[in-house]
Amino acid sequence: VDIITLVLGPLENNTYLLIDPDTKNAAVVDPSFGHQEVLDEVARLGVTIKAIWLTHAHFDHIAGVAGLARDLNTEVEIGLHHDDLELWQNGGGAPALGYNFEVGIQPTRFFEDGQTLWLGNNQLNVLHAPGHTRGHVMFHAAVEKALLCGDVIFAGSIGRTDLPGGDTGTLLNTIRTRVLNLPPDTRLMSGHGPESTVEQEQRTNPFL
Ligand SMILES: [Zn+2]
Ligand SMILES: [Zn+2]
Repeated sequence: VDIITLVLGPLENNTYLLIDPDTKNAAVVDPSFGHQEVLDEVARLGVTIKAIWLTHAHFDHIAGVAGLARDLNTEVEIGLHHDDLELWQNGGGAPALGYNFEVGIQPTRFFEDGQTLWLGNNQLNVLHAPGHTRGHVMFHAAVEKALLCGDVIFAGSIGRTDLPGGDTGTLLNTIRTRVLNLPPDTRLMSGHGPESTVEQEQRTNPFL
């Protein structure tokens, strides 16, 4: 699967486009503010969005969902873990930060740990990864050795746990058992900031 990174919105979210090179079908992971940029990129590449897959329901990761779903001409799947549905319905956690945010759409599919997602012949594995939020998931492309890890771990940092649903012990356990156990050369593609690898974080991340 080809992975393209777009940096969108005031919180500089990494929005990922996953593309099957054979069918040109695509999935968007965590569309943030400014969904028109996603549509422009999709038109430029000549690919078709079939699904929107969400690592978690914080507003900056789901801000583009309703606009995308509205502006795409085809029916698009919207996937979220059930444990983040409450957060989704509570404005994506925006009220806790003093913002107003209306999601304006509902998920159409609920992820489970261990589930396989298909994009053409490309396979992604859903890993439940609680701690930053209850229903956080990561998407693992084992063949490509890439982990779309949302706000679980960043280059040199880890996800915040002071927002509703956050828990530091749970997050550290998730990182130990679901991230650091992957092959050392696995690319870590986070919700914010630059790419890293499992090995680099194991060696240098001050929070671990
Ligand atoms: Zn978050
Ligand atoms: Zn975030």
